[in-house]
Amino acid sequence: TVGAITLDNNNSMAVATSTSGLFMKKAGRIGDSPLSGSGFYVDSEIGGAAATGLGEDIMKGCLSYEIVQKMGAGQSPQQACDQAVYSFVHKLKKRYGKAGEFSLIALNNKGEWGVATNVEFTFSIASEQQKPQILIAHPAQQQTTK
Ligand code: ASP
Repeated sequence: TVGAITLDNNNSMAVATSTSGLFMKKAGRIGDSPLSGSGFYVDSEIGGAAATGLGEDIMKGCLSYEIVQKMGAGQSPQQACDQAVYSFVHKLKKRYGKAGEFSLIALNNKGEWGVATNVEFTFSIASEQQKPQILIAHPAQQQTTK
């Protein structure tokens, strides 16, 4: 999945996801990527979020919506992503004994961003002031430059 969140000079935000789904998927399978709230969500007055990874697990929650609500309640995008991933992995493991790999990105309407993952995950950030940068997120939430 490629997920993107944007913020323009008028404080308008957008989010988009595009995916080929999973390798060897069954015909007709719908993953999380086209599902608002699960694979993506945005509210220009707060921020946006998008997910990538095992759709069968991501769809068991509304992670993107949850992250936006957490940001709306005052959390930074990083805090919101960290908390959402941590509690979701915990929930999946408790209920099903395992959790698939997934990653989340978030951007608020002040231009602050966050990312969290339970696997290694490559992402990019860019702005008028900053050239595109490729970063790698790790489960421990530190980002390193590629
Ligand atoms: N989330 C996508 C899906 O389950 C797959 C992916 O992110 O690679 O359809």
